[in-house]
Formats: sequence, C-alpha cells, structure tokens
Amino acid sequence: MKKISILGSTGSIGTQTLEVVRNNEDMEVVALTAAVNVDLVEQQIREFHPKLAVLTNEEKAKELKERVADLDVKVTTGMEGLIEAASIEEADIVVTAIVGMIGIRPTIAAINAGKDIALANKETLVTAGHIIMSLAEEKGVQILPVDSEHSAIFQCLQGNQKNPIDKILLTASGGPFRGWTLEQMKSVTVEAALNHPNWSMGPKITIDSSTMVNKGLEVIEAKWLFGVDISQIEVLVQPQSIIHSAVQFADGAVMAQLGTPDMKLPIQYALCYPERRPLPGDRLDFAKIGQITFEKPDLKNFPGLRLAMQAGYIGGSLPTVFNAANEKAVALFLDRKISYLEIAELIGECMEMHSLITNPSLEEILDTEMCIHDFIDFRYRDR
Ligand code: NAD
Ligand code: MG
Repeated sequence: MKKISILGSTGSIGTQTLEVVRNNEDMEVVALTAAVNVDLVEQQIREFHPKLAVLTNEEKAKELKERVADLDVKVTTGMEGLIEAASIEEADIVVTAIVGMIGIRPTIAAINAGKDIALANKETLVTAGHIIMSLAEEKGVQILPVDSEHSAIFQCLQGNQKNPIDKILLTASGGPFRGWTLEQMKSVTVEAALNHPNWSMGPKITIDSSTMVNKGLEVIEAKWLFGVDISQIEVLVQPQSIIHSAVQFADGAVMAQLGTPDMKLPIQYALCYPERRPLPGDRLDFAKIGQITFEKPDLKNFPGLRLAMQAGYIGGSLPTVFNAANEKAVALFLDRKISYLEIAELIGECMEMHSLITNPSLEEILDTEMCIHDFIDFRYRDR
C-alpha cells in the first residue's frame, strides 16, 4: 500500500492526485491539507478516510472539526498543522501541491522525516533549492517532479542517468498572449489572463503562465532538480503543449516526452515511479494534430521570463526576491489593485533594490520574502 499525504488537496493538483488515488487500489491517503474550503475537505475526508486533516484557516478548521466529529480523523490548523501532515508517520510520500513559498517549511519537515516528495510546489525549489536538494540527498529521499515539463525531463533521463545532460529543452505554450506586444497587453483583464489555451490550473499559476513568469520559475526549478547550469536550459515555445520537454545528450540525440496535456500522467508517474500504470484519457493522434510548431520565447514583451533568467543566473537570494514579488503582485492583480504590466514592473523594481545574499539560510530566505511583501504592501497601501 502506498501511503500518501497531500498538501493542498482542494486545488487543481490536489484534486487530480485524488483522482489518481481513486484509480489505484493500492494507494491510501493518510493526510489532507487545504486553506479554507471546508465543504470540499469534508467530502474528501468522507471518501478517503485520512488520519489527519488540516485547514490552515483557524475558524474553518473549527468548523470542520464539528462537521466530522462522527469520524476518526484528527483536525488541526496553521503552519503546525501543515508540518504535522508533511511529517505524519504513516506517509511514504508527500505530494506538495500548495501554492507559494508557504510550502518551504512543510517540505523541509517532510524530507527530515524521510518522506519522498512528489513536488508540484515549484516556488519552494525556486527559493530554497540549495537547501531542499542537499537535505534530500543527505536523508536519502527522492524528489519526484510533478510539474509536467520536469516530469518529462525526468522521464527522458530514465536509463540515461550516467550520461551527462548537454542541454534541456524546456517547452512553453506561450500562454494566451503569445505574439502580443507590451502595448497590446496594457489593458489585459483578470478574466483574459485566467483563460489559458491548453491547461486548466489554479489561478496563480495560470496568471504566471500568461506572463511567462511560470516558465522562468521552471527554469530555476529545472536547475535544481537536474543539477544543470541555467545556460544549459533553453526555453522553447511550442504552442500545442504536446512535447512536454526534451533533453539533448552529448552525441546530439534529443529525447522528448510527448502526450496530451493531462496532469494526472506526471502525478501518477511520481506516485508509482519507476512503474508506468494504465491511465484512462485521450491519446495523441498525430495525423489529426498535423503539425507541432516551435518559436523562440519573446523576452522583450515578456519581461517576467527575462527577469527570472537573470535571477537564476545570479542566484543566492535573488530568486526569492523574484518569486516573493511575483506572488504579491499576482495577488494584487487578481484583486484588481494593479494592472497586468505592473506585475513584471514590480518584480524588476524589487530585484533592483535588493542587496544580494549569496548563500541564504532558511531564515534569510523567509526574511527576504517578508521584506518584499512589506515593501509592496506599503507601496500599494492606498489602492
Ligand atoms: P490551486 O490554487 O488550485 O490549489 C492550491 C492548494 O493549496 C489548495 O488546496 C489550497 O487550499 C492550498 N493553499 C493555497 N494557499 C495556501 C496557504 N497559504 N496555506 C495553506 N494551503 C494553501 O493551485 P494548483 O494549480 O494546484 O498549484 C499547486 C502548485 O502546483 C503550485 O506551486 C503550482 O505552481 C504547481 N503546479 C500546478 C500545476 C497545475 O496544473 N495546476 C502544474 C504544475 C505545477
Ligand atoms: Mg509546468
């Protein structure tokens, strides 16, 4: 029996993870966490019978506790609850499917408790990759990528572990505004930015995909997962989202993983690795697709990607600044307090004023995040 703890069970990745569990009789959920959605978590508890359920919102956790008083499940709250779910004794693997840097401490707790990690929560690697990857090595735990591109790269590397990577080709759909100029993007609305052409995902990553910030975060995520330099990662726009990414080896051979856009594949692969199991769903029909096209990314009109590459090259605390500014800016955009183009402007401004810490500790990373958030809160206090 594979025993799973899911951090962020009510989200896009969390609910798809539960679908995978439903289809695999030898998987069991031992812990679930979410932020506020009492109704859905109650349903999930009644269906999957975890030992522990966490709602990080204290009021909502109280409400949940009353609602599931008839069941044998412990309900807790806050960061302590997240850490408890991440390190729960019964779990073999923790799916990190919460959004943002809030996932750093629970991920570290899970690794310290010897759990394998099915990692969706890319912001943790972007900001604390040096801490997480070396701790995982020390504790002998596996970090199994869930992000579709990174899962693709990981799949391409099977059987090739001893062959050094020459280059990673990280594919990108280009998002809903591919081909647009900055002038055209001035008046982009929340609704337009939430309308991704190929993938249905949570709101934060959907905005990040539209600004190409997501691809920037993924470049840094790939650097940590596969131990390559940023200069070995080439972003390639492939609007049909069929090639999920590729690896080029020293002899020029390029291995790619292809498929229909369905996150259940990388989720199931991470949970069952190294086994491939049946997965219901559409299959690729190449003759119907007709063609797969490629473009270079547009760094001029998508400054979020350019800034991420810069943060990745310089490293240290700069990816934290990039990520923290983006998290806050996206929240402000979704609240309709700033315009679409202000997201990248704000990231650039925060990166410019930051004094770099070359090898930040966990405290320094979290302090940097707090400083950036305080700065942005102050800046937009009247909006
Ligand atoms: P989502 O918004 O759909 O779900 C997020 C989950 O985390 C929810 O269960 C929510 O309750 C919980 N959560 C959010 N904020 C929280 C907080 N402050 N404290 C505790 N819990 C909190 O997000 P998603 O699209 O599922 O993405 C999750 C992670 O996976 C992100 O890091 C994202 O970048 C990554 N990812 C997602 C996809 C995708 O297809 N959705 C693909 C690749 C990577
Ligand atoms: Mg991705």
